[in-house]
Amino acid sequence: MTSYTELGLVNTVELFKKAISGRYAIPAYNFNNLEQIQAIIQACVETKSPVILQVSSGARKYANSTLLRNMARGAVEYAHELGCDIPIVLHLDHGDTLELCKDCIESGFSSVMIDGSHHSFEENIALTKKVCEFAHSQKDYVSVEGELGILAGVEDDVSSEHSHYTQPEEVIEFVNKTKVDSLAISIGTSHGRAKFKPEQCTRDVNGILVPPPLRFDILEEIEKKIPGFPIVLHGSSSVPIDYVHIIEKYGGKLTDSVGIPEEQLRKAAKSAVCKINIDSDGRLAMTAMIRKVFSEVPDEFDPRKYLGPARDELKKLYMHKNQNVLGSAGQV
Ligand SMILES: [Zn+2]
Repeated sequence: MTSYTELGLVNTVELFKKAISGRYAIPAYNFNNLEQIQAIIQACVETKSPVILQVSSGARKYANSTLLRNMARGAVEYAHELGCDIPIVLHLDHGDTLELCKDCIESGFSSVMIDGSHHSFEENIALTKKVCEFAHSQKDYVSVEGELGILAGVEDDVSSEHSHYTQPEEVIEFVNKTKVDSLAISIGTSHGRAKFKPEQCTRDVNGILVPPPLRFDILEEIEKKIPGFPIVLHGSSSVPIDYVHIIEKYGGKLTDSVGIPEEQLRKAAKSAVCKINIDSDGRLAMTAMIRKVFSEVPDEFDPRKYLGPARDELKKLYMHKNQNVLGSAGQV
């Protein structure tokens, strides 16, 4: 049994309070390897941004949960070494059972998501409530994120054909009965790098897909029902066309890629949305650089020579997100 405070981590409660009053959002970046955690910590230290390190159940299977937890501990010390003790949260992304959440909490996570959105409303409440009771009764309070509404798309073990927007009339009962600390909602974001089908989009003069706008009307209604309550957006990559082009130039194929425009995320970050999840953009940045090196230097076989540029591009991307999209830069 390890408490997150022993690892130097914090929960989300104070961070979200500050983010809502300061009208910005905390970045939630997924990691499962060394280069990703280096990029995240370097970018967040240099921009003086708090950060949520996210681990999905897929990442736990890929990288081993003991290694991941100790990487988060290392991240705290690494940030200190780099000269800025930024607040760092270790968060379970899309937990699907009470057992998984308990396991993470007991091994040092400071925050968990229980995603009961695929169950009925009543079952979602019952499951989320159990996780909150366990998380909140720990010696060091662990924060819990719940979800109402369903996002389309594929992300590790989570996938759904269709999205179902969050119904604003359900949020008060859900929040009151479960005692969650934050709520993930569905207002048109989606997992993966092809967030919309081409027939849902229009095309600009260059033939590039333009997605339908996020449903800010639903977000506003939710904010009216639970004023000041922390809201979370999943699936909020913008799928930069430059990365898609680099990947395709060097032999990749990413047909019909489309993300959420950054101006819409910037607008969301100024509302009660105080956590924005970005994963696909990081995958694209790394893949673009690795493909480029492989293609331009065919005799290169030292992993540091292609993972290094991938890491540096990832850092650049995250600095840009913190400074220009989420507004979390300078908030430490
Ligand atoms: Zn998600």
